[in-house]
Amino acid sequence: MKLRNWLTLGGMTLGSLAVATAVKSFLPRPFGTDQLYERPVEVTPSPQHLPDIEITFLRCGSVVLPECIAIRGSFSLTPRTISHSAVLIQHPKATFLYDTGLCTDIPLFLLDQSFLFNNTLGRFTLEQSLGHHLERLQLQPSDLDFAILSHLHWDHVSGIPDLPDVPLRVNRLEYDFASQGLLEKNQGLVRRLLSNNPVNFLDFSGPAYEGFRSSYDLFDDGSIVLVPLPGHTPGQIGMFINRAHGPRVFLIGDAAWLSNNYAEPATMHPVLWSMVTSDDAMARQTLIDLHHFSRRHPEIPIIGMHDGQLQEAFMATEQQRLQVHTA
Ligand SMILES: [Zn+2]
Repeated sequence: MKLRNWLTLGGMTLGSLAVATAVKSFLPRPFGTDQLYERPVEVTPSPQHLPDIEITFLRCGSVVLPECIAIRGSFSLTPRTISHSAVLIQHPKATFLYDTGLCTDIPLFLLDQSFLFNNTLGRFTLEQSLGHHLERLQLQPSDLDFAILSHLHWDHVSGIPDLPDVPLRVNRLEYDFASQGLLEKNQGLVRRLLSNNPVNFLDFSGPAYEGFRSSYDLFDDGSIVLVPLPGHTPGQIGMFINRAHGPRVFLIGDAAWLSNNYAEPATMHPVLWSMVTSDDAMARQTLIDLHHFSRRHPEIPIIGMHDGQLQEAFMATEQQRLQVHTA
């Protein structure tokens, strides 16, 4: 056979392999979720011992992705909204944020980013900055006692420039990890966004909670309980909100983008998953833990910080509940 024919045959084989690999990347990947889980029965404080807590999602921006990119194994092109949000929590002991959404100047912070960054992870529509949300709610940044950061990826610290001097609370493990490179990645984007705000470290020395390995009881009254959700980053933090009125709520950072990720469970498309996940095995175990928790507690909204649809649905029921409550 002539060299040209060999080259054609080789090219065709490589091409078929590439197509097969691309097709396979959309197929479901099995999860071992049926291991026996013997979880201790946890005692949740009864509502009459808990305070009233208001929860408000502040959506700052969004991007729309086809479902098959957000959920591996889905062949649907249905658009799914990936939001960039902060959560305002008004507790009798403190007014604070879980994550920070996007600041007013976020386009300026992203000016020096690469073409690839700005057209993949850095692509979104800025809807309403965190600063504008606070203004609308007649809140000054100084009215906030602190902001808890689920983790230190750029899109979760992007609201901080609108929060001058507000103390930040971060898992110590997460900050140590970020100091080894993440703070300086993308022209020091995370370091610049963290601004000069004071940083307080959290250590998770509390007991296992609801099937998660350890905990941190923020006010020592069982109302706000933080748990580690490692894998997406080593020190990612989830937050349980237990209150007198309204459902318990579980905020899960980026442990899942959409509820389908823990319900099935399924990661996002593997190319995206590998771009944003620091430890594949651990992140998959966290998805399995969330899967089991969601089965045990179907009544608790488990809300990811990019799950635009679930956040909207939660806010709609919350508003209805408050109307009935105050009527
Ligand atoms: Zn994120």
